[in-house]
Amino acid sequence: MKIIKNPKQMSNLSLSLKKQGQKIGFVPTMGYLHQGHLSLIRRARKETDIVVVSIFVNPAQFGQGEDYKQYPRDLKKDKQLAQRAGADIIFAPGAADMYSQGYQTYVEVQDLTKGLCGASRPGHFCGVTTVVTKLFNIVQPDTAYFGQKDAQQALVIKRMVKDLNLGLKVKVLPILREKDGLALSSRNRYLSKKERQQAVHLYLSLREARVMINRGERSAAKIKNKINHLISVGIDKAGIDYIALVDTQDLTPLKVLKGRVLIALAVYVGHTRLIDNIIVRIKK
Ligand code: AMP
Repeated sequence: MKIIKNPKQMSNLSLSLKKQGQKIGFVPTMGYLHQGHLSLIRRARKETDIVVVSIFVNPAQFGQGEDYKQYPRDLKKDKQLAQRAGADIIFAPGAADMYSQGYQTYVEVQDLTKGLCGASRPGHFCGVTTVVTKLFNIVQPDTAYFGQKDAQQALVIKRMVKDLNLGLKVKVLPILREKDGLALSSRNRYLSKKERQQAVHLYLSLREARVMINRGERSAAKIKNKINHLISVGIDKAGIDYIALVDTQDLTPLKVLKGRVLIALAVYVGHTRLIDNIIVRIKK
């Protein structure tokens, strides 16, 4: 497996691989890899000839006071995990390689980034779409793999690829969870033992929402109240950022549930902000 830090070197290699007719699969990550990331790498391994995994904690997508500095990093372990999962190349640039002095160009997707995480993390999605565009330009993937864990991000990237005619396929894969249901996340390592135990209530509340809907509940407000209650009771230091029931395609809030509904939430468990979501198909 090759480790490349220099963007020019990465793009030269990608261009020569493509000239040889190789299909490039790409998995962008911020590292500290877990089984969720590895599921994307494994899928890329199955579907493409060359698997590139980027590891880059992108300063542009962190707001002031967020965890850019503390974000967990372990490149040595990431290399082993990525290789075992089938990666051929790790692209791990430094911040200065990606944002040289005088940097001033940003990519922005408009409406889709206004709600949910976009509302509480201003500038976040602009940082994401900018870095992902740069990574796409450098790596030149045929297919890029993202996780449903970051549901809004996946939609935003798909929109951007379409709007800017980037000409690659975007695949969105299911959320991998711990045995108890907590969605895997690099940020789970911030949790104390007690917080970790209680964090499962994010998932349990989503599951309960699904049960309510399957029993016929169609009021978004009632489901939101239930989720709110379950999280507040289950987690001592819960700070609810948002609980949203929205259309899966355009993320518009729903009052009365219909079609395919994304139930998404962001909750602080102590100081750690966790996100999770499920999609529920409403039967008539
Ligand atoms: P991150 O390193 O958190 O930026 O995540 C990199 C990619 O892995 C993103 O496309 C995420 O949506 C995806 N991902 C993160 N956690 C999970 C998970 N639990 N299951 C599936 N994919 C995930």
